[in-house]
Amino acid sequence: MIDCREVEQWYVDLPCERAEQLPKQLRKHIEGCAACRQLAERYEALDQRLAAIADQAAELDESTQLSLRREVHRSINRPRTEAVSEIMTPAELAAWLKIPSEALDECIEQMPCFELAGQIRFRRSRVEQWLAEREQAFATERAAYLARRRLRAV
Ligand SMILES: [Zn+2]
Repeated sequence: MIDCREVEQWYVDLPCERAEQLPKQLRKHIEGCAACRQLAERYEALDQRLAAIADQAAELDESTQLSLRREVHRSINRPRTEAVSEIMTPAELAAWLKIPSEALDECIEQMPCFELAGQIRFRRSRVEQWLAEREQAFATERAAYLARRRLRAV
């Protein structure tokens, strides 16, 4: 089973000139994975920019392009790497949920988490489950509120 990390590794290690030779199985994964599709598009855009620079500067050889590429990779890929991590720290969870860390402190007691060696950690799958329940409860509450308001309006 090809997963996102293999796709990521392919793009990190890939010499620019072999960009056309993406293995069939990776291509298939990318077609079905929005995160990898976005990653692939970013690398294609990067390769185009590097090729344009290389055209202008003969001294920018392949190894320079590759090291530039690795450097850019870190900034391109960081949010996605956090997103696919199954175990998260409170700070990573807050970033993933796109809320400030202080806001997470307010609801941390209700959230599924565990303690290990004195550290609080979150399992992404459990948090996703919790979010789905919360979403459902909110939808029910909202529907009830709207129904009450409609009754009052009649
Ligand atoms: Zn993927």
